[in-house]
Amino acid sequence: MPSLFSEFRLKDIALKNRIAVSPMCQYSAQDGVPETWHLVHLGGRAVGGASLVIAEATAVSPEGRISPGDTGLWNDAQAQAWAPIAAFVKRYAVPGIQIAHAGRKASANRPWEGDDHIPADDPRAWQTIGPSPLAFGANLPRAPREMTKDDIARVRGDFVSAAKRALNAGFEWLELHFAHGYLAQSFFSPIANRRTDEYGGSFENRSRFLTETVAAVRKVWPERYPLTARLGVSDFNDESQPLEESIELIRRFKTLGLDLIDVSIGFNTPDVRGVPWGPAFMAPIAERVRREVDLPTAVGWLINEPAQADAIVRDGQADLIMLAHAELSDPHWPYRAAKSLGIAKPQDALPPQYAHWLKGR
Ligand code: NDP
Repeated sequence: MPSLFSEFRLKDIALKNRIAVSPMCQYSAQDGVPETWHLVHLGGRAVGGASLVIAEATAVSPEGRISPGDTGLWNDAQAQAWAPIAAFVKRYAVPGIQIAHAGRKASANRPWEGDDHIPADDPRAWQTIGPSPLAFGANLPRAPREMTKDDIARVRGDFVSAAKRALNAGFEWLELHFAHGYLAQSFFSPIANRRTDEYGGSFENRSRFLTETVAAVRKVWPERYPLTARLGVSDFNDESQPLEESIELIRRFKTLGLDLIDVSIGFNTPDVRGVPWGPAFMAPIAERVRREVDLPTAVGWLINEPAQADAIVRDGQADLIMLAHAELSDPHWPYRAAKSLGIAKPQDALPPQYAHWLKGR
């Protein structure tokens, strides 16, 4: 029976355990170029024992950044700066990256500087784009420009170019960001997408930007490495896409060659009252997706305790546990988890530079 500390194989990649570091924006790049902070943040978590470390939502184009501090992969200088970071992570873990376009949630201040749209007259602001000229609302009140079909083709091409650069930079696991109300998610959402052409309206049409992007990226991302997507499977809101539609979309992703689905929340609206917050509340939903689509599945959200994470894997609710806040508060969470679960030689979750001194503790 698989458990938190059993190996997980996907394509030619072998993860030494089921603990993955979730992509977490650091808002610390200049012109999209990652720096020493990113090396320490990602490298530190690889040293800490997670088997997979996924670099933050990395913009496929300048207008796809959430904030001016986002990392990017729209030029070769950015790819070159990522290369030593991926190489260091690879010493201890599998290096992954999430590529993203923020859509109507772009052009925002860093969370700790307001988390709101940069005022339109501020020279740091830029024009956002989306499926329809509808604002997200609340702290992000500016409506995006409705994308033309040329824009759609260009952004799909930007995902392809970013995937190629991720490969050249040394990443071995690619996640497409199709969640959290960003561009791809907003195409799928009937709340954000009111188009009347073949990219809006029916389930088929709202899915098109996402399925075309999966198909295009799969052509350039090698078969030996996992191609994954994070999808917001529900907004827990009556106007949103129903979970059944998300499950059908994931079935189509599988047919197109997606290797794993990272199950998350839609966040197409600022109203999160319907979200059933509670410990590991997404795990039963991940279990349903995994069972109905028969595709490897990752899950996060309010998973903090090792026993809880271990039970999710043992019960077949998910194959991988995505940790964000837990890894921020304790980068050596896997070591602590190994100890608390009674794993023999828990120090072996860490490299010998640390494990040697921790043996017997
Ligand atoms: P956690 O369980 O630690 O975090 C849950 C999140 O849900 C918190 O942000 C929390 O907001 C919010 N939340 C919890 N309870 C409620 C509630 N009752 N009402 C409203 N909001 C609530 O989950 P993870 O650590 O797994 O992270 C979840 C996702 O967030 C991941 O996908 C990860 O990639 C992403 N993330 C991104 C970061 C970044 O980009 N820098 C940093 C951390 C996570 P609050 O903090 O206000 O309590």
